[in-house]
Amino acid sequence: MSAGAVNRKSVAVIGGGVSGLAAAKAFAEKGHQVTGFERSHDFGGVWELSRSYPDVQTQSPKDLYCYTDLPMPRDYPEWPKGPQVHDYLLSYAQKHDLVPLFRLNSNIKAMERRSDGQPGWTLTIEADGVERQEDFDFVAVCTGQFSEKNIISHPGQDGFVQRGGLVMHSSEYIDPDVVRGKHVVVLGGSKSATDIAVNATRNGAKSVRLVYRENVWRIPYFVGGINFKHLLYMRAQEQQFNQWGKSPVQRAVAALFKPLVWANFRGLETMLKLQLGLKKHNMVPNIPIEKDVSCSVPIVTPGFFEALNAGQLQTTIGSFDSYTEDGLKLTTGEVVPCDVAVLAVGWKLGVPYLPQDFQDKLIERDGQYRVYRLSVNPDLPDMGFVGFNSSFCTILSAEMIANWLVRFADGQLANQPTEAEMNANIDMMLNWRRNERPAAQIYGGLCSAPFHFKHFDELLTDMGAKKTKRSNPLAEQFRYPNAAAYGEFLASAPQYEAN
Ligand SMILES: Cc1cc2nc3c(=O)[nH]c(=O)nc-3n(C[C@H](O)[C@H](O)[C@H](O)COP(=O)(O)OP(=O)(O)OC[C@H]3O[C@@H](n4cnc5c(N)ncnc54)[C@H](O)[C@@H]3O)c2cc1C
Repeated sequence: MSAGAVNRKSVAVIGGGVSGLAAAKAFAEKGHQVTGFERSHDFGGVWELSRSYPDVQTQSPKDLYCYTDLPMPRDYPEWPKGPQVHDYLLSYAQKHDLVPLFRLNSNIKAMERRSDGQPGWTLTIEADGVERQEDFDFVAVCTGQFSEKNIISHPGQDGFVQRGGLVMHSSEYIDPDVVRGKHVVVLGGSKSATDIAVNATRNGAKSVRLVYRENVWRIPYFVGGINFKHLLYMRAQEQQFNQWGKSPVQRAVAALFKPLVWANFRGLETMLKLQLGLKKHNMVPNIPIEKDVSCSVPIVTPGFFEALNAGQLQTTIGSFDSYTEDGLKLTTGEVVPCDVAVLAVGWKLGVPYLPQDFQDKLIERDGQYRVYRLSVNPDLPDMGFVGFNSSFCTILSAEMIANWLVRFADGQLANQPTEAEMNANIDMMLNWRRNERPAAQIYGGLCSAPFHFKHFDELLTDMGAKKTKRSNPLAEQFRYPNAAAYGEFLASAPQYEAN
C-alpha cells in the first residue's frame, strides 16, 4: 500500500499513563490528529504521585522499564522509586511534545458508535462538571489494568469503622502515619501487599500481619547474588515455558529437552527456597514454578523476609471472615488485633465506558478477553487497546503495541489480518490459555509475560520489520530485551505518513 493512501484521522487516546503517552506518540508521529484524555490532574497513571504508596519502586530493573528512545537517567537506581518514574514519564511527554495533545481532568464517561454514520466513535467527556460529546475516527484505549479499585467489604465493617477502625484500599495507603502505634492487617499476597506490610513495620505499627490466600513463587531482586534480569528475561529461558502455537517439530524438541528443563526449574526452586527460607516460613508454593510464572509473580519487597525473620511481621494463609468487637476474625478461626485493615486486593479489569453489547463481544463468560495481539477485537471496529496487557517490561510492551496499532488502524501492517484470521488466532490463544497454560488466564488473559520475545517477534513480523533480532545470536539468546535495540527494529519497519 502506498504512503499516500493513508488518510489523517482524528484519534482519541484515553489515559495519560505509560501507554497513553506511547500511543499518543505513535499516532502523532504518523501524522494523525491526536487528542489525549486523562481524568487525573497529572500524567503518569499508576505513577501519579497522589496514587503512589510510600516506598513504591519498580519491579523491573530500569533498563527493562523504559521507552526505546529514552533510557532512564544514569543516576537513577537499578529499581527506580515512584517519583523518579513519574519524572521520567513527564520527561518523555516533554521530549515528544505530547503535553499539549492531552486534556487533563477529562474523564471519558461513555463511547458510542458515531451517529453520523462515519467510522469511529462519539466520546462523552466530563470536564469541570460539564459533559460534552466529541467524534473521533479512531480510539486508542489506554486506561490500563489499575483504574477501577476492587472494593470488597466483610461483615462487621461498619461497626469496626464506627469504633475508630480504618479500612482502606492499598492505593489509599499514602500516609504511613496512619499505622503508627496501630495493629495493622494487610489482606493480599501481591507486591503491593508486601510493600505496605513492610512499610508499616518501619513506621511504628504495633503489629503487622499479612493475610493471603496461597503461597506463590516470589522472585528476589538478586537470585543467588545475580540481578534477576540476567537470569529470567532471556529467550533461552522463555523457550522453556509452554508457549502457544508450537509446530510439531518444536513440540518434539521440547519433549527431548524436557528433563533438562525440569532440572533447570527444580534448581531455581531450590535456590529460592534456600535463599528466602521459604520452608521455615511455610511459604513454599504447591505449584511448580514453570507453571506459575505470569504477570502475577511478585518481586520480593526488600526487607520482607528480614521482617519475617525479626518477628516484626506475621503471616496467615486465609482471608478475612469478619470484624468483631475484639478485632478481626480470619477464615482460619483466629481472631487477631486490628486497628487498620489494608485491602491489597487489586483492581477490576474493565472498560466501563464501553456499551454493554460491545463488552459482551470483548469479554468471554469466563472473563477471558478476545483480543488479537492483545490489542484489537474484530467486532469492535475503529478502536484498539494499548497497555491493556501486563508484562514484566510494560513500557516497552506499550510502545511496541502502540506502533503495531497505528499500522493496524491505517491498514499498513505487512500482515494485515482479516477478520477470520483474527478470530481464528483469538480462539487458538483462548484454547492455549484454558487447556495448556492456565497461568496465562490471569488478568483476563491479558498478560504477555513470560513470553515477551515471542510476542514482540509477532508484532515486528506483522509490521514488516527487516530486523527483529540482535546481530549477536548469543546476546539474543541470553540477554534481556534491550529497549534501544527494539527502537532499531521498529525503525526497520516500513515507514509512512498519513495526510
Ligand atoms: C505499584 C506498581 C508497580 C509497578 N511496577 C511495574 C514494573 O516494575 N514493571 C512493569 O512492567 N510494570 C509495573 N507495573 C504495572 C504498571 O501498571 C505498568 O507498568 C504501567 O504503568 C501501566 O501504564 P498504563 O498507562 O497502561 O496504565 P495506568 O498507569 O493505569 O494509566 C491509565 C490512565 O488512564 C486514566 N484513565 C482511566 N480511566 C479513564 C477515563 N475513563 N477517562 C480518562 N482517563 C482515564 C487513569 O487516570 C490513568 O492515568 C506496576 C504497577 C503498580 C501499581
